[in-house]
Amino acid sequence: MLILMEPAAGPDLIAEVVALLEAAGVRPQIQESAEATSILAPHASKALKPDRLEGLPGVRRVVPITSPFKLASAEGSLTPTIVEVRGVRFGGGELAMVAGPCGVETREQLFATARYVAEAGLKLLRAGAFKPRTSPYSFQGLGRDGLRLLEEARREFDLGIVTEATEAETFDAVAETADLVQIGARNMQNFALLKLAGRCGKPVLLKRGPAATLEEWLYAAEYVLSEGNRSVILCERGIRTWSDHARNTLDVSVVPAAKALTHLPVVVDPSHATGRRDLVIPCARAGVAAGADGLLVETHCHPEKALSDGPQALLPSDFFQMVEQCRAIHRVISGRPVGVGLAF
Ligand code: PEP
Ligand code: MN
Repeated sequence: MLILMEPAAGPDLIAEVVALLEAAGVRPQIQESAEATSILAPHASKALKPDRLEGLPGVRRVVPITSPFKLASAEGSLTPTIVEVRGVRFGGGELAMVAGPCGVETREQLFATARYVAEAGLKLLRAGAFKPRTSPYSFQGLGRDGLRLLEEARREFDLGIVTEATEAETFDAVAETADLVQIGARNMQNFALLKLAGRCGKPVLLKRGPAATLEEWLYAAEYVLSEGNRSVILCERGIRTWSDHARNTLDVSVVPAAKALTHLPVVVDPSHATGRRDLVIPCARAGVAAGADGLLVETHCHPEKALSDGPQALLPSDFFQMVEQCRAIHRVISGRPVGVGLAF
């Protein structure tokens, strides 16, 4: 249930409600908003009748949450969640863009790519130091050395770092370096990793599994949220279908469908969704047009030499074009004046 407090209810009255919930074995989460405080109490109705809480001083109303994912559900929050990562806001009506090479390969490669990502006005650089690869013989990432290079890139270009945690053993090292911890598609239902992500104190980018339904994806988010981490961003990165012209199939309609069910921000990754450079820009545009809160895109200074995902990496010139076009589409759908024509 969601307990809406009166705007004038002070910390004492909030603490009383929390104490009652905790005594009943519920783990409440307090949500502050500009208007009033609300208390999210998953499965509280099993332990307490709503009228027990409605009678308490400072409580305005108790709203039942019918959704099975209590914390991820749109019913559980009065406003959409905004996840802020080094000043970049996901979910606040802006278009948050994250880009970089698939993996950290060398300082030269990372810095050359980071330089033009920053030049395009982006504030977040993404690259994997630990790479979950389909084949054990493929490049597995530079590991901890890659994390050090990412830290150097943050200092050099003043970019926030998005990087993937793939396993429990190295989770803390990744979380220490990352400004936003990525949980990859293959790990969407790695519940031990999700719990670590929920306790790590950093925002989390949760990719949708290649065969996961929207409901399974939201339950995965619920694992992170239920550990107390409210900063979760969902990322659609394509699902497995029988279509074989591309690596995966971008599920564009899941963007508005997810946003109808959850208060969490939703971004689109057109790179893994297609696996083909020529399809990345059209799919990035489709994601923005469908209402995504942001994009996660792979780009490489020399895609032909990339150690992973080269065929889907945008060339620098394509990357600038994508950024400009997606910003233009976003201005149109958010009703802002359009300076440049939508000619592409
Ligand atoms: C990646 O982001 O490079 C990656 C491995 O993505 P996914 O988990 O979506 O396959
Ligand atoms: Mn990749």
